[in-house]
Amino acid sequence: MEKPQEATTQQQTQEPELRTVLVIGAHPDDPEFGCAATIAKWAAEGKIIDYVLLTSGDKGSHDPTLRPGQVAAQREEEQRRAAKELGVRSVRFLHYADGMLENTMELRRTLCGIIREMEPDILVTIDPWRRYQLHPDHRAAGQAAIDAAWAAREWYLFPEQLLDKEPWRVKEIYLFWTDSPDYWEDVTSSIDRRIAALKHHYSQVNRRLDTLEERIRQAAAEAGKEHGYEYAEGFKRIKLR
Ligand SMILES: [Zn+2]
Repeated sequence: MEKPQEATTQQQTQEPELRTVLVIGAHPDDPEFGCAATIAKWAAEGKIIDYVLLTSGDKGSHDPTLRPGQVAAQREEEQRRAAKELGVRSVRFLHYADGMLENTMELRRTLCGIIREMEPDILVTIDPWRRYQLHPDHRAAGQAAIDAAWAAREWYLFPEQLLDKEPWRVKEIYLFWTDSPDYWEDVTSSIDRRIAALKHHYSQVNRRLDTLEERIRQAAAEAGKEHGYEYAEGFKRIKLR
């Protein structure tokens, strides 16, 4: 009798705490390609989820007739639609230059301010330490997001942000696109939403639309196989408490 009660008590004390989630990505479509089925599942469970995208993916087109501004506008719209599909509350774009993102102190300060303002329990971002992560934006975005979460905890870092508030402690960080997963979310119930959300990124997936669903299902089935799930998404999870 005692053990189940303990487990229930623990769940009750832990679950309500981790209600707010901030997802930081480099480009529109990063969250959907990275971990959208988890986002859809968490949203359905009542978590509040917000996105911050550091660039608008304005170099993400090979069509020479399109200007970068047009590409950015299209991709922001696609990202908003995809986020809506998943149940995400808000999407914010910081408009850094696509392909040129750097983990600067200015970016760390900006993201630290956003974390202190939004007070997320969970930060979801790209694993910057994945071996052979070749995209510099993906490395920079993940690193900047983690560094900002670290800074947000400290009174003496960017104290000008703390005139009318206190430091904020992110409780858990989930890294997607990792080669060191140690946590698998069962996304059997939400894999369809991930595919639906990805289809909103039409400018990015249109040339591979016929194989998109199969590829996504295959990867999620592969991730779930060893853990007893039909479909799963793997993360490196870091607990900061
Ligand atoms: Zn990307």
